[in-house]
Amino acid sequence: MIDCHTHTKYSPDSKTEPEAHILSAIEKGLSYICITEHMDFTDGMKYSLPGETIFTYEITPEYFAEYGRLREKYADKIQIGIGVEAGWTKEDESHVKEELAKNDFDYIINSIHLVDGYDIYWPSFYKGKTKKQAYEAYLNAVMESLKAPYRFDCVGHLGYITRYSVFEDKTMKYADYADSIDQILKEIIKRDILLEVNTHNIAYGLDIPDLTIAKRYYELGGRLLTVGSDAHRPVLIAECYKEAAERAKAIGFKNFVYKCRGKITEVPI
Ligand SMILES: [Zn+2]
Ligand SMILES: [Zn+2]
Repeated sequence: MIDCHTHTKYSPDSKTEPEAHILSAIEKGLSYICITEHMDFTDGMKYSLPGETIFTYEITPEYFAEYGRLREKYADKIQIGIGVEAGWTKEDESHVKEELAKNDFDYIINSIHLVDGYDIYWPSFYKGKTKKQAYEAYLNAVMESLKAPYRFDCVGHLGYITRYSVFEDKTMKYADYADSIDQILKEIIKRDILLEVNTHNIAYGLDIPDLTIAKRYYELGGRLLTVGSDAHRPVLIAECYKEAAERAKAIGFKNFVYKCRGKITEVPI
């Protein structure tokens, strides 16, 4: 098993000690774990109601020092990647570029958390929008984020909006957004960018990406499917990995992959 999307106390929304994550990963038998703390800035957040806060960038030099130590300490038990989850907005992209250039990350996830000036975690984004409008705006932001002027290795949680949207049927089916999704998938396939299966919501009946999207990715020739739990607590490391592997296998995938310092490694499923 592998887990390529995890957060610890260096992200503003986790209190987990990094070593606890690593020990949990070893106990669960993982061969590879990547820590991907949040890097989000606030220039892209224009509209919010009181209480609708946004995460900000918290990565400090201690991050590399601590993970570097852990990487050495557990070198004979597990491979550890030191990564980041970079939140994209047009307004923040030059700032993200600067910060990424200062640090030597093994792996960079490109994620959308903000759309058109709103944090889509909060309900105000959805006010006055149909599901189609909200989801198309999200997919448009994903498409735009692929033009980010910095290196990234993976598109994180494609369909993240389905976690928090206010609609009764939250799912994002390929057929309903085919043109936008095809544009995104074709672009990432062309550029060997990984597509992430984010297992965070499988336990609640939500696949991210939706299985119809994963299937379309496969049909278009995409084979660089990675997997991440988005765990903010050690107990959730590699959560629902087996379910994700079964689903990927049913579509036709023979392996997940992870990417570390540009090198892609296949992990049979
Ligand atoms: Zn995220
Ligand atoms: Zn995350």
